[in-house]
Amino acid sequence: QRTYANYHRLSTNKLPVCLVKNQLIDRIQKNETLIIIGETGSGKTTQIPQFLYEHLTSSKFYQSSTLSNGNQSNKETIAITQPRRVAAVSVAQRVAKELHCQIGGLVGYKIRFDDCTSPNTRIKYLTDGMLLREAIGDPLLSNYRVIILDEAHERTVQSDLLFGIVKQAQRLRSGQKRPLDDDSDSSNNHRHYEPLKIIIMSATMDVDNFSRYFNHAPVIYIEGRVHPIEIFYTESKQTDYVAACLSTLFQIHQEEDELDVIDEQTRNNNDFSRIGGDILVFCTGQEEIESMIKIVQNYSAQTKAMKTSKGTIKTLKPYPLYSALPKDKQHRIFDRNPNDCFRRVIFATNIAETSITIPNIRYVIDTGKFKSKFFSPKTGFEIMRVENISKAQACQRSGRAGRLAPGKCYRLYTRPEYRSFSSFPIPEIQKCNLSTVLLQLIALGISNVQSFNFIDSPSIENIESSLKKLMKMKAIEKVNDSDVDYKLTKLGQTMVIFPIDPRYALLLIKAQKFRCTEEIITIIAMLSVDNVFDTSTNNENVIAIHRKFASSEGDLIKLLNVFRRYREAQQKMTWCQENYLRAYQLKQAGEIRQQLVDLCKQAYIDLSSTPSTENVRKCLAIGSGVGVGLGANIAEFQRDGDYRTVTFGQNDRPSMTVFIHPSSCLFSQKPECIMFVELVQTNKSYMRNLCLIDRKWLLE
Ligand code: ADP
Ligand code: MG
Repeated sequence: QRTYANYHRLSTNKLPVCLVKNQLIDRIQKNETLIIIGETGSGKTTQIPQFLYEHLTSSKFYQSSTLSNGNQSNKETIAITQPRRVAAVSVAQRVAKELHCQIGGLVGYKIRFDDCTSPNTRIKYLTDGMLLREAIGDPLLSNYRVIILDEAHERTVQSDLLFGIVKQAQRLRSGQKRPLDDDSDSSNNHRHYEPLKIIIMSATMDVDNFSRYFNHAPVIYIEGRVHPIEIFYTESKQTDYVAACLSTLFQIHQEEDELDVIDEQTRNNNDFSRIGGDILVFCTGQEEIESMIKIVQNYSAQTKAMKTSKGTIKTLKPYPLYSALPKDKQHRIFDRNPNDCFRRVIFATNIAETSITIPNIRYVIDTGKFKSKFFSPKTGFEIMRVENISKAQACQRSGRAGRLAPGKCYRLYTRPEYRSFSSFPIPEIQKCNLSTVLLQLIALGISNVQSFNFIDSPSIENIESSLKKLMKMKAIEKVNDSDVDYKLTKLGQTMVIFPIDPRYALLLIKAQKFRCTEEIITIIAMLSVDNVFDTSTNNENVIAIHRKFASSEGDLIKLLNVFRRYREAQQKMTWCQENYLRAYQLKQAGEIRQQLVDLCKQAYIDLSSTPSTENVRKCLAIGSGVGVGLGANIAEFQRDGDYRTVTFGQNDRPSMTVFIHPSSCLFSQKPECIMFVELVQTNKSYMRNLCLIDRKWLLE
């Protein structure tokens, strides 16, 4: 009889990493830093931390270590960083299940605004950003024995900074003595920090660049099992990739039949769960995903009765996968219920490229796009736009089709378009707002930011102009008139307490003067979660209901109205349903708000407020650093009917022509002067999340 424990052993032992377990442990023991490359799904993220834990708890690992008296304190903790929150949570849950323990015990996760760890946690999955925040208080990262930097190819700003910080911690720890605890006896061997092991993991990356950066660390390749994948390109350029995507989807669903190609071994393998092979579609974002899901649902309702040659009903069931999805819904893609439908289609963002392995995929539809933020130092704006993926990403996307059996990938771009893609994605640090990054580095104790060992450095000019902005904001100051060293001012120190964009932190601090801290916190919390308005049922009724919250003062005040009404509602779930609002997002906003309030209390920030929305708008207009090019997102109405951004006399910053996003409640109002939170670029640049302001406030 099979017990659950047996089942677990059976199901994970066949993962490719398990075949090289001893070799891996051996290499990790012998090297301070190691790079591991292995196909997505080979078991890197879920298994390697378990191997290490098993090994660390056996005494062998400590032979060369200075720890002697059995007091291992908590130094054997293993940290595994993930660029994405969803991945950190989902993988931690999976590992806890494999080890038959409660999440938050031995295995835990820590993401922004959600810490699910305890003093007993030894395998800790956390986002890059969270580990970076820990490094602010503890540059030696002394809580960890091993740090695994996973998904290194993602090259988020946070992970790029972490590479340098972790490398520095390793170097410092090898030389530094540990301060003695009061009660410790100076004759024992407690004096040195244990060396820090660093493991870099990825499915794909620019290995030479990484190895060189990490002092020529050795690289281990794990062979994965991949079946051949047939790749199709479109013959002509697609102008509407969403339409192309849907027609390809329905064609696959109609024409591709059962998985009769699967051999007996695969069929017995418990990864296999359904008759039809599932389809994975790569989309750019939540709204796109939800609108496609609606279309598939309508289609499925109409074709319920359609039957295949063998008499099975060919149902197609859509599932979403994106970062802001509630945890329980994310989990559904792992449910194995072969009877619930013939085929599933999963609409995912680039989360599904490498961080999350979805079972049973045979077909991939690759739009060739992803959504990305791009900062233009010239205009001073950070713009959200859809961009082409890189060749490495295209390869990962198609690879998702071949884990189970030979698969097919439909690329919705032409072969020449593919050839024009860059080989690897541009590191985020080379296209983001550097002020935020530099403030973080200075907070980490790197006073001379230009000396920081970036894996790929941003340009000197960009660093210098960003430092100037931070000086103007009074967030940093020079150290003893040095030309290269900076430190945080008191204001800067308060700003970095908050785990939010420094522009928001500044706004929150400035709000005291306008006596509207509470309101500003609510608005920041609402902007920190994904769209609270459920527009997936897009009928007149929903629009009318949402209009109830609208304000002639703009979208930010509308968000404030929604949250206030939500707080007052007795039956929150029902109230949200009735008003077509997303209960999960609102609940999350409430939690974030509470944490920001707590942090304000710690920082002695005055929370008393006078209920005036005009003050709130004034604060939004002035408080986020008008005139320093940081958050100075203000536009004015022009005679020709367009809006142009205001440059505050900075001649080096050209103004831009921008438009009000149709979803804004100021869309038909066309006020003289507005402040906006973000720019979204499609065929034009649209301002989103607006707030009505008065130009004369800016002159005060
Ligand atoms: P890698 O990091 O090498 O891409 P993972 O360790 O994430 O691989 O995954 C190993 C295996 O575990 C995969 O076959 C995947 O399908 C399975 N798996 C991972 N997470 C979950 C989960 N939450 N539920 C069920 N199976 C999972
Ligand atoms: Mg992984």
